[in-house]
Amino acid sequence: MAKMTGKTSPRSGSRSGASHAGPRHPADAVAGVLAAWFRQSARDLPWRRHRDGYRALVSELMLQQTQVSRVVEKYEPFLRRFPTPAALAAAAEDEVLAAWQGLGYYRRARLLHAAAKAVVERHDGEVPADLEALRALPGVGRYTAGAVSSIVFGAREPIVDGNVTRVFQRLEARRGSASDVEVQAWAWERAEAFVAGAGEPGVANEALMELGATVCTPAAPRCGDCPLRATCASHAKGLAAEIPAPKKRVARKDLVLVTACVRRTDGAVLLEQRPTGGRTGGALSGLWAGLWQPPAVESADGADLAPSAAGELLGLPASVALAAVGEVPFMTTHRAVRFVVFAAKVRGAGTALAVRGRRWVAPAALGDYALSNAAKKVLARGVDGPVCP
Ligand code: SF4
Repeated sequence: MAKMTGKTSPRSGSRSGASHAGPRHPADAVAGVLAAWFRQSARDLPWRRHRDGYRALVSELMLQQTQVSRVVEKYEPFLRRFPTPAALAAAAEDEVLAAWQGLGYYRRARLLHAAAKAVVERHDGEVPADLEALRALPGVGRYTAGAVSSIVFGAREPIVDGNVTRVFQRLEARRGSASDVEVQAWAWERAEAFVAGAGEPGVANEALMELGATVCTPAAPRCGDCPLRATCASHAKGLAAEIPAPKKRVARKDLVLVTACVRRTDGAVLLEQRPTGGRTGGALSGLWAGLWQPPAVESADGADLAPSAAGELLGLPASVALAAVGEVPFMTTHRAVRFVVFAAKVRGAGTALAVRGRRWVAPAALGDYALSNAAKKVLARGVDGPVCP
């Protein structure tokens, strides 16, 4: 395929305005077929109804490692709360994390928040069209910058994500795992050639991703419905199920956390915030940074601790009579975490417990606090603590 020879000027609203005389190269034909298919088959997703740089940035950050159906739920409420980069930039981080609840991987929320601040400071509150200016924003890598600049502004920029890599690999029967460095470099070359030959780069890029998400799926690709099956090497050779090779599994690290769900008799729960800044050391370094949780501490002896020893480890006064209420297992990408859960209920205001950043949070206010899914499971397990004498 031909190499891209230079960048075109970003074109606002290029989706219908491209002048293209017809296929000049096989890549043109693929892009044209895909674009026609996309116009007929594209899912109606909220970020496709109204395009601008900010909305695209929000959707792209949300979509990283999160299912589309979950992003569909969260996207409009987030934009209603933070309708512009300026509104997002002016918000407190806790507010942003709370609005991000349900999407997971909160680091993206922090990066989006930082990107909004940079957009306000460097670009008068308008997400830039230029690829390099986009890439200079926090959390915006080559893929996200390419997606925003091509899909919103019509720039002739390549994009490669997992879906795109898989489609390219299958089209050319290129073996290897999609996460291999060589395969990634090869996919970017293919993406450059693909977009260089496309009449409408943004449409072609989006169509390619859509094909990977809906037809050329990781398991059981629907080749019978695919607009590219006539030119697909994997389909011709019967290799679609074998390509790409599965990703190599990374061994998870085992962790034990001792945690206490301490409630007041009026229902308020004691929470603490995990460290926010940088790496915090230890096996939990960076995990759930800045999120709220019932008091928790790492302890290899967690499962064998007496309730009084757990309370001491957690820095709770001896008057808090904890009881063991069970365990909650939780898997993250790199860790197998086992929460050993203790619980108790205290009478009165419990002011002696609201120290070192810990605070009482009423049930009605819990929605304002960003809690990890793990913390929610722990709280659900720790509702039956005994009332302290
Ligand atoms: S024909 Fe099958 S394997 Fe090839 S691109 Fe289409 S869905 Fe993927």
